[in-house]
Amino acid sequence: MSFSHHFRKKIDQVPEETAQLPVTDMHIHLVDFSQNTEGLQVLIDRMKQANIEKSVIFGLPVIKKWAESEPERPSYYLDDDSPCYYFASTDEIVADEYLKLSSEEQNMLAPTLCGFNPTDRLAIDYVEYMFKKYPFWRGIGELLLRHDDLTALTEGEPARVNHPALHDIYVFCAERDLPGCIHQNSTSVGHHDRFEYLHEMKEALGKFPQTTFIWAHCGCSRRVSHKNYAAMIREMLISHRNLYVDLSWIIYEEAICSGLEPKPAWIKIIKEFPERFMLGTDLCGHFDHLGRTIARYNNLINLLPLRISEMIAGKNAEELYFRRETSKEQQSRQ
Ligand SMILES: [Zn+2]
Repeated sequence: MSFSHHFRKKIDQVPEETAQLPVTDMHIHLVDFSQNTEGLQVLIDRMKQANIEKSVIFGLPVIKKWAESEPERPSYYLDDDSPCYYFASTDEIVADEYLKLSSEEQNMLAPTLCGFNPTDRLAIDYVEYMFKKYPFWRGIGELLLRHDDLTALTEGEPARVNHPALHDIYVFCAERDLPGCIHQNSTSVGHHDRFEYLHEMKEALGKFPQTTFIWAHCGCSRRVSHKNYAAMIREMLISHRNLYVDLSWIIYEEAICSGLEPKPAWIKIIKEFPERFMLGTDLCGHFDHLGRTIARYNNLINLLPLRISEMIAGKNAEELYFRRETSKEQQSRQ
C-alpha cells in the first residue's frame, strides 16, 4: 500500500465528516505531485459540506517525474525512485482556477505563491514578477525545505530555511506583511537524540524578526519525531514571537494524539499560546476526504475552552491571511 493510501485509510476511520466549529483550513494544496487537481470549484463545494468557511490554498513547488525506467505512473513523491523537480507552473494553475471563481467564492480563499527553487538567489525576481502579474497572493508557501525523503528526491542542493536565497523573500514578506509557510523538519529521520536542523530554523527566525513564519506540522514529518517534541515547540514559541505553527498532516496522529486522544502536554501548550496554533488538512489536489480530515480535530476542539477553540479553528488563520484583504477592500470602498 502506498503512503498516501495509508494516510487515507487512517482518515477513513474518523466517524464524522463535518467540523464542529466553522474552520479556516490553513494548509491545503490545490494540486497533487503530478500537478493534477479536481479544481477549486470542487474544493469550494466540499468546504461548504465540511463547515470550512475559508482556506489558504497552495500549489506544490515540485512535480514528480515519470522516469522512463519506471513501469507505473507515479502519483506521490514516494511512489518510486524517480526524482522531483521545481515546477513554477503550479502558481499559474492556482491563478487560473482562482480567476474562474465568483468574487464571493474568491473571498473564501487565500492563494499563496510557492513555485520557485528556494535555493536560487534569483527566486526573488520570480516572486516580484508574479505579485505584479497577480496581485491577489496573500502569502508565500508552502515552501518544501528540509523534508526527509522529498529533499533526497528533489534535484539540486538541499533546500533549508536559512538558505541565503530565501533572505530577500523574507524581507519581501516583512515589507508587505505577508506570512510565509514553510516545511522544515526539526531533525532528520535518523537522528532523534537532538534536533539536527533546529539551528537552521532558529537562525531564520532570529535574522528576520519582522517576518511571520508558519511552521508547517510543527516541523514534524513522517519518521521525524523526538521524545521531547512538545517541549521543543513550547521553547520555540517562547523564544520567537514571529513563529506560528499548524497542526496539519500526520503530526496530529503521530505527535499530538495518543491513539485518538490529544495528549495533555499539547493541550497545555495550545492553552498557553492560543494565538499561535492553526488547523489544516494538507490534502493535495483531491478533496473527497476533506470532511473527515478536518473533522478529526473535533476531539481537540472539545477539550479546549470555546474561546481558544475558535482561535485555533479559524480566527488565527483569518487574522494572518484574510484580515489584510478586508482592510484593502474597505479602503477601496471609501
Ligand atoms: Zn503541505
